[in-house]
Amino acid sequence: MSTATLARADVLRETALTICGRREGKTRSCNSCLRKADAVVHLAATPQLNTLLVPQIADIVCGSSGRSCVACWEKATRLLLELRP
Ligand SMILES: [Zn+2]
Ligand SMILES: [Zn+2]
Repeated sequence: MSTATLARADVLRETALTICGRREGKTRSCNSCLRKADAVVHLAATPQLNTLLVPQIADIVCGSSGRSCVACWEKATRLLLELRP
């Protein structure tokens, strides 16, 4: 496995954990959040402004379309900071 693939797997796992909800001792997310993480990482790689990305990522995290809750909005903001330092 190449380094790039490994790094991507790490990014995916960390992203999925943030989406799933981090807590002490938890090292992996559920499969549903892993799928969401894939979509989020993909979106974060597009050349869009963060202000445009937050609502889209919040939608993915919340599983809603345009009606994401405050908690998921905050997660989306945190995810962008992690993915686009
Ligand atoms: Zn989960
Ligand atoms: Zn939500």
